[in-house]
Amino acid sequence: MNRLDALRAAIRRLEAENIDDARRDAKFLLGQVLEGGEVALISGPDMPLKASEEVLLERFLQRRCAGEPCSRILGWREFWSMTFRVTEDVLDPRPESETLVEALLEAFPDRKAALRILDLGTGSGCLLLALLSEYRDAYGLGVDLSEGAVTIATENAQALGLGSRVEFQCLDWRDGLGIPENDAERWDIILSNPPYIESDAIPKLMREVRDFDPKSALDGGEDGLDAYREIAHLAENLLKPQGLLALELGMGQAGQVSEILRAHDLSPSGLRRDLSGIERVILANFPKK
Ligand code: GLN
Repeated sequence: MNRLDALRAAIRRLEAENIDDARRDAKFLLGQVLEGGEVALISGPDMPLKASEEVLLERFLQRRCAGEPCSRILGWREFWSMTFRVTEDVLDPRPESETLVEALLEAFPDRKAALRILDLGTGSGCLLLALLSEYRDAYGLGVDLSEGAVTIATENAQALGLGSRVEFQCLDWRDGLGIPENDAERWDIILSNPPYIESDAIPKLMREVRDFDPKSALDGGEDGLDAYREIAHLAENLLKPQGLLALELGMGQAGQVSEILRAHDLSPSGLRRDLSGIERVILANFPKK
């Protein structure tokens, strides 16, 4: 079978399983098995697939047909043009989460600022590490309940050459973070992509999410907002007076999260939409005294 026929057959198989964006995934997975990557598809569409390529493609397609996302099949995912290792222990980094990185870069334009950045529920570390790659003199702490996530985030930091400016700790943010004694120990930025799905909605999620992302990274309690209440409460003790809180939102949560923030003396100061037009990130700070 030549490369183009292999692509067509792969698209048909993924479409038959109702995989969203079957064409993109088929092309991507085929690109991963071909020596020379996706470009090889264009440069040599009628070259025959090697036996080893065929075997690997078959293995990849079977897994994708069973709902496994490409990132988990390959064990890595690109986020902010950086490569992150991903496993069953971490939420698959999503393109819409890049909105949070963009929002912070706009809010803190000085890339040389020695910012102290705290990431609550860091997962793969993608948000924190993307920010540290932009703010060359910043220091970061990422915390997560999951030991497995902390291991992956630490590996990612090392692989990306950011290990000296970041620490990852396995702890429960509700009681594991000490209360700073002075403003210098507080954080310039506290960010989080917390679990925000309503518990009852989890069984109805796409199988790529429901069956492959860690439940603890999805389940936001009965109304999906538990983590926002906890984080708003924490920010009172942990955020610098001039600091900024940046939170990813689930669809339609901006109003309720704003109310939670206000109840903790924080002023919502900006909303950012993702590329699909969904209000995806909220920023908040303490009102100026
Ligand atoms: N963004 C994920 C989804 O909607 C949910 C992740 C989260 O709860 N933070 O599939």
